[in-house]
Amino acid sequence: MSKHAREFYLGIDVGGTKILAALATIDGSIIARKRMPTPRNTKAEHVVAAIADIIAVLLSEHNLAPRNLSAIGLAIPGTVAPNEGKIICTPNMPLSGVVISPLLEKRFKVPVLIGNDVNLGTLGEVWRGAARAASSVVGIFVGTGIGAGVVLNGHLIPGHRNAAGEIGHMVMQPGGPLCGCGNRGCLEALASRTAIERDIRNALKNGRKSVITRLADNDLTVIKSSVIKRALQQEDELVTEIIRKASETLGYACLNVRHLFDPELIILGGGVIEACGDFILPIVQQIVGLHSMPGSSDNDVISMSHLGDDAVVLGAVALAKAHHHPDEHPTPRPAPHHLSCRNNTAYLDRKPVQEPLALLPNGNIAKVNLKRKNATTFLTRKTLLHLCTSQCLTLVVGAATPAHFSLTPKARAAAEKHRISVSILTIEQACQAYHTSPSSVLLLSP
Ligand SMILES: [Zn+2]
Repeated sequence: MSKHAREFYLGIDVGGTKILAALATIDGSIIARKRMPTPRNTKAEHVVAAIADIIAVLLSEHNLAPRNLSAIGLAIPGTVAPNEGKIICTPNMPLSGVVISPLLEKRFKVPVLIGNDVNLGTLGEVWRGAARAASSVVGIFVGTGIGAGVVLNGHLIPGHRNAAGEIGHMVMQPGGPLCGCGNRGCLEALASRTAIERDIRNALKNGRKSVITRLADNDLTVIKSSVIKRALQQEDELVTEIIRKASETLGYACLNVRHLFDPELIILGGGVIEACGDFILPIVQQIVGLHSMPGSSDNDVISMSHLGDDAVVLGAVALAKAHHHPDEHPTPRPAPHHLSCRNNTAYLDRKPVQEPLALLPNGNIAKVNLKRKNATTFLTRKTLLHLCTSQCLTLVVGAATPAHFSLTPKARAAAEKHRISVSILTIEQACQAYHTSPSSVLLLSP
């Protein structure tokens, strides 16, 4: 590949057993992949060195230099503080507490963004996979553990501590089996591969027979998803029974998720689903379909991941791209500002709004200059076009007195020409309108 000015991104999925890297273009086409085993039983610096290695090797194999990269996205199996580039906690890896972005940025001179792997997997499916046409999506990934990512109106929901989507620890059976988190009866303790393996081993210990003993060559310390799949294909009674029970629990978890978020799609992915989805999906769909609220009885809300292993690396690319092109979707947005209204006064993050300002769809706040003439406040053409870009064509104005707010004739003509819809409302009405349509621009003129 020649060195040219095109924008490339690297997405890296730092897993417990393997590190997977993908070199991609700005539109998410993967040009090359590289896979390396994750160093085991070792210190953080060796894992960081392995990540640096995979970046360097992938670039050199394709005749690229770090300067050909626009940004790198890292998917971490744990909680992260994205603004500091810091890994907070990785239960299955020695990376807790590592401030990783600055380390890699120093070496490669490229911005390095980090996110949780399951959140990024969901973002990947929204960007390039099964959820391309949807804007509200929950991705649930079933492997050794169970995690989820929540995208609502195109925005990844990070949660207060960047720990939203820990669906694996929703309690589905109070007092049930012990979970790795210390609690009992979590979804993960009932339907993950770890739980399925435990149930198979216990049943065999209690004298049940299964083809899985032979399929796994008598070594049941780790039962791979592919082995479980083969036992299902052979209609093994024990494995079918255990997977059916796990699928039902997963189905009820999906039903809870549906009631909580009302998403357009729930995407199921991860190793267990990749291997046994044909068996699991119909059970989940049936439970979600049977118990839906009136008027939402369709069961095609559940779909399989389309991207498989690429979901997470592409989500990492989407994260890196969002850093470079903050105005495009899908982007994990900053936490939204808290907007409320009392007595026709707007409160932003609980402070009264006393000067004109605008809330932009990307979550930013912009100061706004308005023209005042006699008792009337005017929005000029320049300010209108500054606020409403080609991606956002709806402006909601909340004015202290709507009758005394107007567009200048030039602004009115520009709105018509660019098909920008402008509504002038009371502050109270505008706040309400903004809450139902967060993709619009809200201009407050107190
Ligand atoms: Zn748990």
